[in-house]
Parts: sequence; C-alpha cells; structure tokens
Amino acid sequence: MVLFVTGLCHRRCWYCPLSEERAGRDDAYANDRPVEGPEDLLAEARLMGALGTSITGGEPFLVPDRVARFCRVLKEAFGKEHHVHLYTGIAPTAEMLAPLAGLVDEIRLHPPQEDWARIAGSPYARAITTARELGFSVGIEVPALKGLPDLAEILPLVDFLNINELEWGGINADEMRKRGFELVDDIHNAVKGCRRWAKDLPHRKKVHWCSSRYKDAVQLRERLKRIAARTARPFDEVTMDGTVICGVIEPGGPPAPGRLGLPEGSYEVCGDAIELSPKALRRQAKRLPGKKYIVERYPNRGVVVEVIPL
Ligand code: SF4
Repeated sequence: MVLFVTGLCHRRCWYCPLSEERAGRDDAYANDRPVEGPEDLLAEARLMGALGTSITGGEPFLVPDRVARFCRVLKEAFGKEHHVHLYTGIAPTAEMLAPLAGLVDEIRLHPPQEDWARIAGSPYARAITTARELGFSVGIEVPALKGLPDLAEILPLVDFLNINELEWGGINADEMRKRGFELVDDIHNAVKGCRRWAKDLPHRKKVHWCSSRYKDAVQLRERLKRIAARTARPFDEVTMDGTVICGVIEPGGPPAPGRLGLPEGSYEVCGDAIELSPKALRRQAKRLPGKKYIVERYPNRGVVVEVIPL
C-alpha cells in the first residue's frame, strides 16, 4: 500500500512528480483513498491484502506524529512482519529517527541533485550511519538525473540505491520543457534518454533501476489484482490487468430485476441500475428493456476504463 502522508514539502525539486491535487496540501491518502483517520488506512490495507506499506509524500518528517501514529496502527493490526519503508528528502537526525524505531523498517533517502557530487561529506552520509545504528535498513532512492555516477561513493554505506526513471507529469511539465526534455513516446510518461545517466554508474549488485513502465505495468497491475480478488462479485469478470468487467442495465425506471426474469444472486441493484454478468447481459440484451452496456473499471467500483454500449 502506498501511504501518502502529506503533500507539504520544504523542498522545490524541479522534477517533483506530485500532482497539482496533492502538492502543497496537507492531505493523506492510502493508495487513492483519502485518509481522515486510522480506520481509512486499515480499510484500504485490508481491501488490497497489503503485505507492506510505503510511506511517501511530500515530506513525511513534516508530520512525524502522524507517521508514527499510522505506522503503529499498521504494525498493531498486521504484525511486525508488515514491512514499512519511508521516503524522505531530508537527512534525519537521531532525534527524528528514534521515535520511528520498530515502526518503520527501512529509510529511503532522497538527497537533492546538488548534493550528489559531495555526498560522502553531506548530512545524508551522517544520516545513513545514524539510521543504521538505530536498526533501520537504509537506501538511497533518486530519479535518473545527470550526476548519478557521483552516488557511487555512498554505495558502501547503504543497502541499496534505487534509480527511478525520470517521469514527466504533475507539476513538473514546464520545467521539463524548459530543459529540453521529451517524452519517450505518446503512451508512457517516461523522459527520453534519462537512462544514460544510470548507465555510467559502476554496475553493482546494490543498484536497481525502476522503469516507469514497470511501475505502471507491474506495480499498479498487481495492486489492482489484489483488490479485485477481494472485492469482485461472483458475476464480475476479472481481467489479467486486474480490472473488472460487468454488464449494466439502466431500465429507465425503478429497477425490478425479478420482473426481468433475472435469477436471485445473479445480479446486484446499484442505484437506478442493475449489474450482472457481462456474458448473461450479452446473451439476453435483445429481450431486456432499457439502456444496456458492458463496463470495465478498476476494482471496487473504481475508475471507468471502457464502456461498450449493447
Ligand atoms: S522532495 Fe519529493 S515531494 Fe519534495 S519537492 Fe522534491 S520530489 Fe517533490
């Protein structure tokens, strides 16, 4: 589960991938669900059968009490084996890290690009040592930008270095254009050519490349599949991508499935519509009155992907 704890951040990275809806707002989300209190994050974690949580933002250390409270709720509900990692753009001190010991398993530091050339003498190197002494796993996670090879110096101190393919979107589009960057193609939001900076890093076991396509195609799909497996109704069809397909009848009046001859348990009344198996609807479309269509959407009545009128 991705737990976005706040959209507030003290930094102004030109490549910041946050959306306009989230940047600068002190709101929390568990995946796409707004979080008002612990019950919301538990509901989302249970819905997707989360095995771990990624704490992100904004800057989580701007809301340390909230982070500690949310992590405590997760660990109490799912046990200490529920793995929690936390991203931060600052170099946290021992005083900041100590309250999270036992609640967060791993710290992922995001040093600013301008610090990479002198990373070994930066506060981030000290934060790595401090975090390790307190028992955290520690890694660096940064976008693919010029200067990546400078981070080789810090590799002996960390457990891993994750490099994310630079992504176009959210509030960074103008900055990308200003720097002459282009999209890799019309479908993906990866920035063309950014991989060349990662290639200059010495090839070491600790270095991992995370492509934008992997994040979309694999991470998102796996999350959808987990939610679909827990929420799909017996008549829904779950696709390989984790989306859910069902048939919909809008009778144009109060729904009366019994009068339409639909067997009990083969449908659900949702507002003014009746939802049923897409196959059953296709078979009977001619005899059934009203507006009829097949809808494909994200699980748990999420975003609509496609509507096919019948
Ligand atoms: S540290 Fe992260 S959230 Fe803050 S401005 Fe940079 S990229 Fe955006």
